[in-house]
Amino acid sequence: MLSIKDLTVNVGDKQILKGINLEIKAGEIHAIMGPNGSGKSTLSHVLSGKAGYDVTGGSVMYQGKNLLDMMPEIRAREGVFLAFQYPVEIPGVSNIYLLKAALNAIRKYHGLSEVDAMDFLTLVKHKVKLLEMDEKFLYRAVNEGFSGGEKKRNEILQMAILEPKLCILDETDSGLDIDALKVVAEGVNSLRSNDRAFVMITHYQRLLDYIKPDFVHVLAHGQIVKSGGAELALELEEKGYSWVENQVVA
Ligand code: ADP
Ligand code: MG
Ligand code: MG
Repeated sequence: MLSIKDLTVNVGDKQILKGINLEIKAGEIHAIMGPNGSGKSTLSHVLSGKAGYDVTGGSVMYQGKNLLDMMPEIRAREGVFLAFQYPVEIPGVSNIYLLKAALNAIRKYHGLSEVDAMDFLTLVKHKVKLLEMDEKFLYRAVNEGFSGGEKKRNEILQMAILEPKLCILDETDSGLDIDALKVVAEGVNSLRSNDRAFVMITHYQRLLDYIKPDFVHVLAHGQIVKSGGAELALELEEKGYSWVENQVVA
């Protein structure tokens, strides 16, 4: 599904990612952990196609195609979904309008007709209920005045509606109380499937108590310095990031 090779990225004249290698297959959940400032969000932004990140070397292949050649909206239509660390507010645009427009854009790209208005409403209300959200959120402006937990739930709602193939969640757990964290985790777990992969970016081990990753990678100073199974997250929790940071060969 995703193959990242020797990826180097600059922001301005500063090298942030220093040769990232990562192979992600459909059905897998990969956690990327690491200290603040290690480059986790930079990696997610590069994958989403955000401006301002200069790829200076390496490659990113997504489902056999060069991801870096695709415009951000094409990446989304091809099934790449990014839940940002800081979700944007869109004043004046209702949540339900955005969801429908986004779903229809994806459907159109794949040669499908617009979703029936009543079917869409039924679908959205069903998902809202599953995520224990208030229906009122559908009619409020996107993320405007949403609490941290509400924004994160809303991102899971978007994912549940758009059914992406590759879901990248950047610190979806930060700022969540334990109840919201469980709802988000249940949302992700319910979306797990053999044809979908997840990249969970997180600073803390806590989220991984509820979403069990197949692989854990530690990013430090722009490099993946250690990879392992779910047990690596527990080891990190116990020993702290300095344990692996000191293993950087640079
Ligand atoms: P993380 O998400 O792991 O906390 P980031 O990817 O946000 O780390 O940041 C990695 C490094 O890149 C940090 O040193 C940060 O200051 C720097 N950086 C990220 N974005 C920018 C930017 N737009 N301009 C300048 N420096 C940036
Ligand atoms: Mg950070
Ligand atoms: Mg970050």
